[in-house]
Amino acid sequence: MSELYLRVALPTPLRRLFDYRAPADIPVSAWQPGVRVKVPFGSREVIGVVLHTTDTTEVPVSKLRTITELIDEKPLLPPSVMQLISWTSQYYQHSLGDTFSWALPVLLRQGEPAVAQKKLFYTAATDAQLDDVRVKNAPRQRQALQAVLQHKRGLAHEQLSSLELQKSSIDALLEKGLLHKEWRSVHQPPSNLPVLAQMPLALNAEQKVAFDSISQQLGRFKVFLLAGVTGSGKTEVYLQLIEQVLNKKQQVLVLIPEINLGPQTFSRFQQRFNVRVALLHSEVNDRERLNAWLAARDGQAEIVIGTRSALFTPFKNLGLIIIDEEHDASYKQQEALRYHARDLALVRARQADIPVVLGSATPSLESLHNANSGRYALLRLNTRAGTAKLPQFKRLDVRSLPLDSGISMPLQKAIERTLAAGQQVLVFLNRRGFSPILLCNDCGWMGKCRDCDARLTLHQRYNELRCHHCGHVEKRPLACPGCESLQLHPVGEGTERAEERLQILFPHVPILRIDRDTTARKGALDAMLNTVNQGKPCILLGTQMLAKGHHFPRVTLVAILNADGGLFSADFRSSERMAQLILQVAGRAGRAQDPGEVIIQSHLADHPLLVQLTEQGYFAFAEQALSERRAAGLPPYSYMALLRAEAVSSIQVDNFLQDALALSEQLLAHYQLQQLECLGPVAAPMERRAGRYRAQLLFIAHKRKDLQQLLHALCFNLEQLPSARQVRWSVDVDPIDLF
Ligand code: ADP
Ligand code: ZN
Ligand code: ZN
Repeated sequence: MSELYLRVALPTPLRRLFDYRAPADIPVSAWQPGVRVKVPFGSREVIGVVLHTTDTTEVPVSKLRTITELIDEKPLLPPSVMQLISWTSQYYQHSLGDTFSWALPVLLRQGEPAVAQKKLFYTAATDAQLDDVRVKNAPRQRQALQAVLQHKRGLAHEQLSSLELQKSSIDALLEKGLLHKEWRSVHQPPSNLPVLAQMPLALNAEQKVAFDSISQQLGRFKVFLLAGVTGSGKTEVYLQLIEQVLNKKQQVLVLIPEINLGPQTFSRFQQRFNVRVALLHSEVNDRERLNAWLAARDGQAEIVIGTRSALFTPFKNLGLIIIDEEHDASYKQQEALRYHARDLALVRARQADIPVVLGSATPSLESLHNANSGRYALLRLNTRAGTAKLPQFKRLDVRSLPLDSGISMPLQKAIERTLAAGQQVLVFLNRRGFSPILLCNDCGWMGKCRDCDARLTLHQRYNELRCHHCGHVEKRPLACPGCESLQLHPVGEGTERAEERLQILFPHVPILRIDRDTTARKGALDAMLNTVNQGKPCILLGTQMLAKGHHFPRVTLVAILNADGGLFSADFRSSERMAQLILQVAGRAGRAQDPGEVIIQSHLADHPLLVQLTEQGYFAFAEQALSERRAAGLPPYSYMALLRAEAVSSIQVDNFLQDALALSEQLLAHYQLQQLECLGPVAAPMERRAGRYRAQLLFIAHKRKDLQQLLHALCFNLEQLPSARQVRWSVDVDPIDLF
């Protein structure tokens, strides 16, 4: 009989599988594709996933090692998720083993058993009584028995300490047969209650059209783009669709962006339905994450709400995928495995033959393009639900106005008026810290990071200069390091400076600054949001953390302090991002009965993009932007990929990218790919970051297929290059950020 070998995917960047010998004492039938194993790898042991068995191997028999341990009795993942992972690995040119790692909850990567955690409970024996002679002279045991008798459904082991009971008393009672112990699953049982816990709202005409169109397609693959202005009731449409799916005994996956929205969305879904909702976002700890994952897989959670990686959750019977804020950049992972969860959701929905709903007030140009070409069904909600009205825009030209810490006099007046009317103000400034530059007036010295091509931001409160790119921190110098002058001045403003100024201008109202610096402490954000929710006049000041999703009914004035960045940047997506951000921030204004106003301070108040966006709305802007992209041959009218490389020495980066360029040109000729361009190498806009030089090659193709063919062959060859060992390199397919 020939020997059995196992082909295993391991968490390494190497794009290949690894062969191992099966231990003799494990039956052949145990090696099903998808079971996890522990194997020796170099000098370590790692966890991998068995893909298949084989009786031939190219590894010399003397070098083959044996599997240390078989972890799972059954495959960890259903075939559908195995396929999705394999698709992801191929499309994003990433090693399959590492793709598995990213797709699995941390505890499963570490080899934890894939079974729902159980909790220990103690119950009283049927004949157990407090006056039993066996506890007559044992007051502690009697006390413990009494506690258990009071908990009719059993006393959980974890309650012992809070009830001041001792484990030894419990053990004695177990010994005497007065108590029993029992391990119970932490999964909640399904409820017998009706699906709905709360009456749905009556849909308005636009919502009804959207709802009907989608609900008719349940059970079939179709992509819907639900483009509804902020506050138009998209969430209500989701909720009513979910109700339909739940009635069919199917599960729903809701993806949300990576922000602090989790709890808010969660409670809205929780309140509507009597079903089990599992959460998979960044604030959920590893253990809860595993439990949620298992609950979805075993059909014990009907709704899963999660960020990006929740897309890989296995389901017993998935009926619908919803992607809220589909344009949000956090759906694209920006490290290692650079996948786009929205794009993968389509792959998954097609495979499961179910609909997927992409919702946004400001859809990505990619999705709009797909809607225009008929690949997606476009559903629009043009008015706000209920009685709220969309806010009015005002572009405030600040070219000739003095700015006081970034705040012009007309804006100051508008804030004053709003507060006096008993309402709240939101001030948006997408830059944290006190000022982005510390400048010497005498010699022109500026604080620069020693490890990056970047200026240091002044953080006044900590008396520090900080690099926002690598985390480098230094003390604020008292005198200029260049000329020893004391004339060091902050130039420009961040949220810290605006806060200081607003406190002076409006001493009697709370100023709530919400950015990464003020919300790092757990609970800090909740405390500030609580103050806002009390409804008294206040000023919310913050970065894009404030822009997304929040519902502040008392905010009627939104002020955008500086909208100009997006109008000059070299990245072709920057105007799209700026437009989305402006509309999302603006969408916080006037969400209840009082009408909202949005003031945009700008040095480019007549810029055509800004005019179009504020006067004609996002769709007009998007149409214009799409026609510019078409003319320039940019995505979505072409397909891009980036090959990035970095190393301590710029020569190593250059050598590698020159080799990669030569290889690419050979491959293009070999495959006769004419409609594919390879541009570069060029230095990244921030050439040095965290002490490493960075450069890149850009590929632009007319057809996705051509690009895939090239990248596949290229990556395989790059791995063999000697110059590749000197650098860190990665491929980014469909990059959303060219830098
Ligand atoms: P979106 O998700 O588009 O931002 P929401 O679903 O959060 O919008 O709805 C905005 C507000 O309008 C919420 O307070 C919601 O309760 C309310 N709303 C939604 N649909 C209706 C409706 N059909 N009738 C009355 N109010 C509605
Ligand atoms: Zn100086
Ligand atoms: Zn730095």
